[in-house]
Amino acid sequence: MRTQVCIIGGGPSGLLLSQLLHLAGIDSVILERHTRDHVLSRIRAGVLEWGTVEMLEKAQAARRLHEEGFPHDGVLLSAQNRAFRIDFKALTGKRIMVYGQTEVTQDLYDARDAAGGTIVHEAQGVALHGLDGDAPHVTYVKDGTEHRVDCDFIAGCDGYHGVSRASIPEGKIRQFERIYPFGWLGVLSRTPPVSDELIYANHPRGFALCSMRNENLSRYYIQVPVDDPIGKWTDTAFWDELRRRLPNEAAERMATGASIEKAIVPLRSFVAEPMRHGRLFLVGDAAHIVPPTGAKGLNLAASDVHYLHEALVAHYGGDRLALDHYSPRALARIWQAIRFSWWMTTTLHRFPDQGEFAQRIQESELAHLANSATAQTEFAENYTGLPY
Ligand SMILES: Cc1cc2nc3c(=O)[nH]c(=O)nc-3n(C[C@H](O)[C@H](O)[C@H](O)COP(=O)(O)OP(=O)(O)OC[C@H]3O[C@@H](n4cnc5c(N)ncnc54)[C@H](O)[C@@H]3O)c2cc1C
Repeated sequence: MRTQVCIIGGGPSGLLLSQLLHLAGIDSVILERHTRDHVLSRIRAGVLEWGTVEMLEKAQAARRLHEEGFPHDGVLLSAQNRAFRIDFKALTGKRIMVYGQTEVTQDLYDARDAAGGTIVHEAQGVALHGLDGDAPHVTYVKDGTEHRVDCDFIAGCDGYHGVSRASIPEGKIRQFERIYPFGWLGVLSRTPPVSDELIYANHPRGFALCSMRNENLSRYYIQVPVDDPIGKWTDTAFWDELRRRLPNEAAERMATGASIEKAIVPLRSFVAEPMRHGRLFLVGDAAHIVPPTGAKGLNLAASDVHYLHEALVAHYGGDRLALDHYSPRALARIWQAIRFSWWMTTTLHRFPDQGEFAQRIQESELAHLANSATAQTEFAENYTGLPY
């Protein structure tokens, strides 16, 4: 096979990039390790910045998002079991959209199918070759046969554990990492959300988050030790603990039910730079990870796609320097999101060595946020997404 851009990974970033390139007349092929059903079964992000919504509109994959998504104009934060609201719309004129990553991915698959895009599923043993030269190629095995894709460029959209970043020689890439000493226990339940807007709760027992997917599908999280056995967290134990950490009136009206998904995920901040090596460009989770506290992971994948797609279009339009700007432009925005996610994580979670002093500092930080329009505007700007 011959294509202009070979995309490794059929998650949100690979699909969005492929679709935008197609609309600009640039050909691509996606190689995905798993089946489509597997990719679509992963329950992950649910909060879209408006810039991400606009990217999906540009990709002609936003019809269902506008029919079924839930625009939110604000968010609730709580400390000492009392909540306050930050009004995004009033402070910045912007909103966010609640729409699950699974749905985004489905819509992008539909758009690629409608356009006749090539997506190879169950591509095993993907290997990248000739990154330093002018004619890179990718090999993979499908149904026992080895295949080869010749291309101009490779986009590594294959997530944190993918092959793309691992193909960059040691010494050519720097990695920055912070591992947080706790995890999030997430539960999905077919119950009405406790609140119309997300609630982020700071509590001496640990952080809690109330999120949602739709009117009858709730997504809740509590901070737990990352090595807690999942079996310890029966549904009853989870609901009891969540209630303790929420503002009283929310805890009292919360509807509970059987969990339909339950897992513990670790929290880390990670950045690899630069996001380019020769003809390879890293995109999304392949280059960076944020703790989910700021809801930035999927949104950063979308902004990376924005910068890379623009650079590739400019390159094929004759601007030979355009691709040099991809990594610095993307990284400038990524580090802002890394900072904001780190700040939210640090301010809202209970750390293992945290004494009463640090708890009071967190509470006073949140009290300042509750009372200062300036602090709220800064929060709202970051949460709804910095401009591209
Ligand atoms: C459990 C979990 C919960 C999350 N919750 C949130 C949240 O609440 N809010 C938020 O904003 N973000 C969240 N995230 C982060 C968000 O889901 C990611 O940032 C987003 O999926 C990034 O998209 P991506 O396309 O870059 O990577 P991915 O979605 O990881 O897609 C990469 C794709 O590449 C494929 N692949 C990997 N290796 C290879 C290979 N060698 N060859 C071929 N294909 C390969 C994978 O199968 C996958 O389909 C969460 C992530 C996880 C893991």
